[in-house]
Amino acid sequence: MYILYEVADKVATITLNRPEAANAQNPALLDELDAAWTRAAEDDDVAVILLRAEGKHFSAGHDLKSGVPAPEKITLEYIYRYEARRYLEYSLRWRNVPKPSIAAVQGRCISGGLLLCWPCDLIIAAEDALFSDPVVMMGIGGVEYHGHTWELGPRKAKEILFTGRPVTADEAEKVGMVNKVVPRDQLDAESRALATQIAGQPSFGLRQAKRAVNQTLDTQGFYAAIQSVFDIHQTGHGNALSVSGFPVLVRLDEMKARMQ
Ligand code: ZN
Repeated sequence: MYILYEVADKVATITLNRPEAANAQNPALLDELDAAWTRAAEDDDVAVILLRAEGKHFSAGHDLKSGVPAPEKITLEYIYRYEARRYLEYSLRWRNVPKPSIAAVQGRCISGGLLLCWPCDLIIAAEDALFSDPVVMMGIGGVEYHGHTWELGPRKAKEILFTGRPVTADEAEKVGMVNKVVPRDQLDAESRALATQIAGQPSFGLRQAKRAVNQTLDTQGFYAAIQSVFDIHQTGHGNALSVSGFPVLVRLDEMKARMQ
């Protein structure tokens, strides 16, 4: 089981439970995670969803070594379909669950890790949290779900994409991507306390408050931009496939070494 699920005091806690791999996301983990979100969304006894991660790091991103078919089967159509489901539709669905959600993030949150915390309504970060999306080094213009510009503003978004450098917890709080930064050993208690406090509010008020903010973003173009940037992302895979026969341009061992 890659995902743990429990409900207490009207709060559903969803835990990424693959700490030995820094919660890297393989297909089974993502499918289990989506099932947990659906379960929490449909349970009338759940008012708030808390997403947390076991271990030192929130998530090292997509596990590029698992779920990869034989090279001759890797076509752009295969990549597009796989990523549209797990990296676009899942994140959008979680974002639109009509209940407040909170992500508690510690350690590294790399690329695909952003696709798990950005869809949440609130983010509490431990002081050691580092958010990054270094996929330009692989010849790709950013991870599949383009929250960057919305979360960081256009200049900071470009800077972290161009350089691949991580955004610290304090920096993320300053630009409004993170609600609160807390000491690492208080992350669980602080995020749980906030979830419990919100869970005491009237459910329809919460639902409509969330809808009001999300609808405002959608009116500003969020939904359309997310869709079209997903397609821009796919041109990166298409180019890499045409150049190297592999969906990204840098070999995994080189990428790992550069992320140290
Ligand atoms: Zn991709």
